[in-house]
Amino acid sequence: MIKRISLLGSTGSIGQNTLEVVRQHRERFEIVGLAAGSNVDEMIRQVEEFQPKIVSMATKEAADQVRQSVSGSTRITYGNEGLEEVATHVDAVFVVSAIVGSRGLPATLAAIRAGKTIGLANKETLVMGGSIVMKEAERAGVDILPIDSEHSAIFQCLQGERLDSVKRLILTASGGAFRDWTREQLAKATREEALNHPNWSMGEKITIDSATMMNKGLEVIEAHWLFGLPYDQIDVVIHPESIVHSLVEYHDGALLAELGTPDMKVPIQYALSWPERLPLSTPSLDLAMLGSLHFRPPDFERFPCLKMAYEAGRTGGTTPTVLNAANEEAVARFLAGGVSFLAIEEIIAEVLSRHTNHPDPSLEDLYEADRWAREMAKQCRIYAV
Ligand code: NAD
Ligand code: MG
Repeated sequence: MIKRISLLGSTGSIGQNTLEVVRQHRERFEIVGLAAGSNVDEMIRQVEEFQPKIVSMATKEAADQVRQSVSGSTRITYGNEGLEEVATHVDAVFVVSAIVGSRGLPATLAAIRAGKTIGLANKETLVMGGSIVMKEAERAGVDILPIDSEHSAIFQCLQGERLDSVKRLILTASGGAFRDWTREQLAKATREEALNHPNWSMGEKITIDSATMMNKGLEVIEAHWLFGLPYDQIDVVIHPESIVHSLVEYHDGALLAELGTPDMKVPIQYALSWPERLPLSTPSLDLAMLGSLHFRPPDFERFPCLKMAYEAGRTGGTTPTVLNAANEEAVARFLAGGVSFLAIEEIIAEVLSRHTNHPDPSLEDLYEADRWAREMAKQCRIYAV
């Protein structure tokens, strides 16, 4: 049977990889809806190729430009309402959530409430609103299937096993662009250096998150919500080659891992085809050629973002929401050239220090905490300029 898909964030790195998976399995997958921000040219190409029923762009101007250039019967809309329309379209059974940042949360929640299975790349959704998202998913009886490679690896290692047999989850981390840099070097790190990820080609925000190690911190929180385990059962190990995508340790001492060449099409396709596996044209991993793999503990002193994320996750309530929003704004300020690399962690620490945690927040409390933290992070005076 054909699986009909709405894809949020279709012009991005995950979005384009998702469309490549769909191209390889036209007999299995069909695109119903596409949503993106402002990349009009790419969206026009996608509409022509996939002929979706509905498309949404971030703004009216971008939507008008797409409408003027495409033929066919695709409905073209815009803004948050347009995004939710794509996320809840009656013909879609599966929604790939691959917008970057916390603006993915309302659309993902709308899709959950509409009973769609979720393929989740947008980890910020769970960091910002994990408690509510997981509750709503349970209530609606929908699966949230991981697309993030580490979580997909863990999900694959959990197939056929019981969660109560798990001793701990071990997330691997490449260490990002600055894995071996000293604090003195980090103080002078440039935008271009931070955007130069050793193993993965991804969107700008997540690439900076990898360089600060905040990405791994966000993933620890994501793992907590996806698999329902406490933080002291979620560990991180640095693995520069990104070949072992993560591991599960069981109570009998057995460790299961998922390995492969770094290619996001593998976890994307697994989420789309689960519980089946489909063929995929990706290079075979030659272990003998590789020869050796390396592992070492993470350095919480050089990369305090990872430590702040663990602490925020353990505190819970509105604190992870504030961590995430402050991080998004700090990364935006760094990408815009306004602050130094180390200012990112300073801004986050400063905003967290001013926050009063709300231990049992409603959705509205989360949105309010997100707004407050963004405002603080924009204003915050930084010493490490
Ligand atoms: P990206 O920057 O390449 O793409 C982001 C997408 O979001 C684009 O299609 C953009 O048009 C869309 N978007 C931005 N603002 C929007 C708006 N207002 N309305 C609608 N759409 C909007 O980012 P990416 O690397 O593809 O990452 C997407 C998400 O997946 C992030 O949450 C990231 O953490 C996660 N993720 C990415 C990778 C990866 O390999 N790229 C791996 C794991 C997880
Ligand atoms: Mg990841």
